[in-house]
Amino acid sequence: MSVKKMDKPNEGIKCVVNSCEYYMNGDHCAAEKISVEPRNAKESDETDCSTFAPKDKTF
Ligand code: SF4
Repeated sequence: MSVKKMDKPNEGIKCVVNSCEYYMNGDHCAAEKISVEPRNAKESDETDCSTFAPKDKTF
């Protein structure tokens, strides 16, 4: 199930992943909601946004 892409930034999120479909200039994320994994991570480097979708993917 894909997450809705809004026409404005989600103000609670800063993201630098400019190859993501949801990325907006200024290091914003336009996803209505995001999901972060994995459970039981020990360091921030271990975590990832699982909502990420490659920019060229069509919805
Ligand atoms: S969906 Fe995740 S990876 Fe993509 S812009 Fe938003 S926070 Fe970044």
